[in-house]
Amino acid sequence: MSQAVEQGTLYVISAPSGAGKTSLVAQMLRSDERLGVSVSHTTRAMREGEQDGVNYHFVSRNEFEAMIARGDFLEHADVFGNYYGTSHVWVRETLARGQDVILEIDWQGASQVRRLIRECVSIFIVPPSPEVLRERLVGRGTDAPEVVERRLAEAEEECRHAAEFDFLVVNDDFDVALADLLAIVRAQRLRMVVQQPRHQKLLAGLSGPA
Ligand code: 5GP
Repeated sequence: MSQAVEQGTLYVISAPSGAGKTSLVAQMLRSDERLGVSVSHTTRAMREGEQDGVNYHFVSRNEFEAMIARGDFLEHADVFGNYYGTSHVWVRETLARGQDVILEIDWQGASQVRRLIRECVSIFIVPPSPEVLRERLVGRGTDAPEVVERRLAEAEEECRHAAEFDFLVVNDDFDVALADLLAIVRAQRLRMVVQQPRHQKLLAGLSGPA
């Protein structure tokens, strides 16, 4: 069995904020124990309810820059003024154990990963309309209009890269979007390159003598 076959699959998932990516990924993890998610490093401030080491590894800019210099990152990007990065050790070790890994990253990171790991599967999630995106970004209406406008501009920038991804999932109905994401994972596991080594004996038995 070649190493590429034993390896888990790397899923790269991107979306504009307001698409529901984080909730969908959290539910994917609960639905499928063979999936794991990489915890990124970031220099942005911790938000209420977040935990260091769970949502992100929160580090200073100095620490982050030292990690870049050491070559610790599989990918990293400046996203709206803060650094975000995926440490490659955990990702590579987890994939090597045959576990599937999800990276929840922006389009810049996705394009770096695609170049490095060609067999990765990339998925872009969008809300069903610009109106819904706006509604979700406006949220409870407590943010200043310029904050909402900035978020919208950032979301539009992310969406301009949708066509670079292998799959597009529209999150109109949460359960449908979740089923779509799990269907992508399931289909990947049924690909001949993954199945053939697992079912060598079966296929040989069914084929009869040469
Ligand atoms: P937030 O600060 O709202 O959690 O995330 C902001 C953006 O940074 C999102 O688009 C998210 O996908 C992206 N992001 C989170 N972690 C990483 C990472 O490790 N690398 C890259 N390139 N982007 C990330």
